[in-house]
Amino acid sequence: MTQGGGSDSARRWREKYLNLIEDHEKLKHSSEENLDSYRRGLVMVSLLAEGQSPAVDSPLTTLREALKPGATGMEKAMDELERAVRQFESQNSARAEVLLGELNDAASRLLLCPLPRPLLKRIKQVRKQAGAELASWSGYISQLQSWVSIMSEISQLDGYDEQPSKWWQRWFKRDEQAEEFSDNEADVQLHDDPDNGKEPGFSHIAQEVSDTLINLLSQLVIPDRLENTASNLQTRLGKGLNWYELVPLLEDTAEFLIDCLGSGQQEFERFLQTLDDRLQAIQTLVSDASNGQAEREQARKDLDNLVREQISDIRSVVTGSGDLGELGSSVREHLTLIVRAMEKYQEDERAREQRLSEKLEMLQARLNEMEKEAGQARRIIEEHKRRATHDGLTGLPNRDAYQLKLQEELTRKTRYGGPLTLVVADVDHFKRINDNYGHLAGDKVLQLLSKAMRKSLRDVDFIGRYGGEEFVILMPETNAQEALAATEKLRAKVESSPFNFRKERVLITMSFGISEFRPLEDGETVFERADKALYQAKAEGRNRCIVN
Ligand code: GH3
Ligand code: MG
Ligand code: MG
Repeated sequence: MTQGGGSDSARRWREKYLNLIEDHEKLKHSSEENLDSYRRGLVMVSLLAEGQSPAVDSPLTTLREALKPGATGMEKAMDELERAVRQFESQNSARAEVLLGELNDAASRLLLCPLPRPLLKRIKQVRKQAGAELASWSGYISQLQSWVSIMSEISQLDGYDEQPSKWWQRWFKRDEQAEEFSDNEADVQLHDDPDNGKEPGFSHIAQEVSDTLINLLSQLVIPDRLENTASNLQTRLGKGLNWYELVPLLEDTAEFLIDCLGSGQQEFERFLQTLDDRLQAIQTLVSDASNGQAEREQARKDLDNLVREQISDIRSVVTGSGDLGELGSSVREHLTLIVRAMEKYQEDERAREQRLSEKLEMLQARLNEMEKEAGQARRIIEEHKRRATHDGLTGLPNRDAYQLKLQEELTRKTRYGGPLTLVVADVDHFKRINDNYGHLAGDKVLQLLSKAMRKSLRDVDFIGRYGGEEFVILMPETNAQEALAATEKLRAKVESSPFNFRKERVLITMSFGISEFRPLEDGETVFERADKALYQAKAEGRNRCIVN
């Protein structure tokens, strides 16, 4: 019983033991399976995390070694990895901060550029997102894409290239709004550089130079033999100055002016020499400035190329490798390079503007000097012209000026009709005045008579000193009868003028011959008739007017 009972109990215990063993085996098996998948999982994660930084890669390798079945050192490897990851994370966020600062600076400088408003708004937006985006590597890519699209828009802006021209224009037309500048105002082309053909600065100077020269020409008394040359020059100047013809044209003008004024005009020659020198200097400055523009264009292209290169590099990394770590650091590197390039572009741009501004200031100073000297030359020429056409004693126009005026009036009469009358006047017994009171007194009488006659004639009437004590008067729109009335007034005025010599009242009178132009009659014929009338007035007792 005991045995039977004993063997039963033993069987139960054995069964229980076997069951326990089986459970334990099962448990052991499943935990080994679990451990194995954890190991595999950890290895996968460690492989994925590799490449972010060499400092993290090394503990990752150690960890993988420790994960191999039968290996030890797992705890140590985990400690090492934890330390490396912490360090890596803090380095990463420090780098992102530096990059963020650099991006901010570059964007602020870019915002100072004359870019269209929507583009400026986008730059601000992208800059605002930078902080959040630089927190993750995918954010890096999105920042980079935003900057790339901004840079490519800048490089494609039409108006951007024209900014220097507007800026240039402002220097020369201070009183005009830069916006009013339009292309056709600056249509002088530099033929040797089709890309950079516009020269607004030169075109404006050209206008000033040709205006000044045309003005100078208009002030000249041009001898008949030079009239062809003059109209030739005027046509060339009127067409606007061509860059290459500037110096030859200037030389021709100088030669022409010297020819007109006679060889005694050394002062004027000197002026033209300085004018020429200054124009040469301006030519140099303008071409320098235009080189500056080309340089600027090149810098912009370089920046554009650099950005494109960086992008294509990144693209090849993205498509060529699935390695997240490599991608992250590559993007960061390229972004840094682009930021540097943007900064350099900004700096160069500032330096270029500074250089240009200095050159323009110099140019402005030279233009001011030139303007001053041109003014002086104009006064000299005016004085020469006045001397050539006016009588020194009385200040009245001389015989040459009378001939010119006569031609003018005859042309006008031919075209529009209307009467024209010539009066020839002569002082009576003038010889006696000289004889009795001296030559100086005679001169004084001529001066006073001239002044009195000029004053009592209409503004449209012409009076000139024909020679000696003889005067000519041209009365436009006046027939013989009207001229007689006017001349009679003149005669009475002379007669009643109080001339006193040594407290003695001296009567001075004049005689006048009057002839109205008949159709198709020339100046000489009418003069002869008027002179005959004057002779008759003398013969009839002087101090009278006779119409013939
Ligand atoms: P008539 O009434 O016939 O014209 O007599 P007249 O004495 O005025 O004529 P005549 O032609 O004989 O003399 C003109 C004089 O005028 C002679 C000349 O010496 C003088 N004369 C000419 N030009 C000037 C000048 O610029 N100054 C002075 N003081 N005398 C002049
Ligand atoms: Mg006379
Ligand atoms: Mg006389």
